[in-house]
Amino acid sequence: MAKGNCNCGAVGFEVNLELTDVYVCHCSICRRATGSNGIAVVVVDNQAFRWTQGEAQISTWKKTGADWQTWFCRECGSPLPGVNDPQRTFIPVGLLNDGDAQLKVAHHIWVDSKAGWEEIGDAGRQHSEGFEG
Ligand SMILES: [Zn+2]
Ligand SMILES: [Zn+2]
Repeated sequence: MAKGNCNCGAVGFEVNLELTDVYVCHCSICRRATGSNGIAVVVVDNQAFRWTQGEAQISTWKKTGADWQTWFCRECGSPLPGVNDPQRTFIPVGLLNDGDAQLKVAHHIWVDSKAGWEEIGDAGRQHSEGFEG
């Protein structure tokens, strides 16, 4: 079980799973969305995910011409978990309050697009584009 919330605390959620694998996306869209080197997420089955509060505070934005959408708190702007395919929820790992001790970076995706200043130094597998399989 892991819990998380946005910076202002309006939006909260919980996951009924032991979380282990972190995926880091380095694509230019995720970099702009966070203003950083990309975004680190855990991917969970929708059944294991539940909002605990603040669903009315969630805004979304879809990028025109791309299969990409972001969810964020309309009050504080923190990125939030989102559903990018019908079965799975993508949770930004920085939102987790606890239960993150077992987490480890397993995969880096869109590595060919990463920022010129970024050096990847962990043992996660590097994929030049999106993750398949
Ligand atoms: Zn917030
Ligand atoms: Zn990305």
